[in-house]
Amino acid sequence: MTGEHVLRIEGLWAGVADTEILRGIDLEIRPGEVHAVMGRNGSGKSTLSHVLMGRPGYEVTAGSVTLDGVDLLGLAPWERAQAGLFLCLQHPTEVPGVSLEALLTEAARAGGRDPDTVREALVAEAERLGIDERLLERPLNVDLSGGEKKRNEALQLGVTGARYAVLDEIDSGLDVDALATVSRRIQEATDEDGLGVLAITHFSRLLEVLEPDRVHVLSQGSIRVSGGPELAEQLETEGYVGVLGDAAADEPETLVGLPHAAGFGEDPFADPLA
Ligand code: ADP
Ligand code: MG
Repeated sequence: MTGEHVLRIEGLWAGVADTEILRGIDLEIRPGEVHAVMGRNGSGKSTLSHVLMGRPGYEVTAGSVTLDGVDLLGLAPWERAQAGLFLCLQHPTEVPGVSLEALLTEAARAGGRDPDTVREALVAEAERLGIDERLLERPLNVDLSGGEKKRNEALQLGVTGARYAVLDEIDSGLDVDALATVSRRIQEATDEDGLGVLAITHFSRLLEVLEPDRVHVLSQGSIRVSGGPELAEQLETEGYVGVLGDAAADEPETLVGLPHAAGFGEDPFADPLA
């Protein structure tokens, strides 16, 4: 323990079987900061989130990850959660038979927090996120819309009181209202509670509400360019070629124009009439 408050990723190399995917990632996220990681499909964004949370199947071959001085890489995923890391899943899991309240009560108990405080926190958080109280009794994520599931993720983040959150494309599959609500809530957590955020996205729209302190562009498993919020705007107007220059030419994808033209899948913010 160093007593220092920071999520620190140093020289991180990781991959699957004999394929290296992450090639030397360095990032430091301090309490209250928002770091956006942007990059084209296949650049390694989800791998980074999986490796940080300890998803089985990935092998870390070099580097370290520490959370407020605690070495995360030696810990099981649930221990990383207890240490203060939260991963907002791109596709939240449906858990039949387990309500949100039951889940969060057990999480509090396991984490040494008073389980009797969960109900109150849950109701307050649901109100902030515009979640109908009846949803709290339902089995976790079962038969919920994409937007409701993402609100649920944000609710869990708020109630567990994690210190650092990794958001893997929290904007995918969200309608604009849900996106605004969820990103506003997370922005408030950075201001009020000092939550540190690593926001993975390929749409700069998310970053209009959730204001990044730093923007990093990932390409072929390493961060090629870092900058302030203006970098996300530059990406929007110039595409990855404009930002990465020659480095973009190394990428396996051939479509390297504007984000919406570059094989990013459906843009949830596209103007349907355009
Ligand atoms: P992104 O989230 O930026 O789209 P990913 O991290 O999902 O990118 O993937 C990065 C690269 O690693 C891709 O080429 C992908 O095919 C490969 N990859 C990711 N996970 C696996 C896996 N479990 N097995 C084999 N290849 C993988
Ligand atoms: Mg991904």
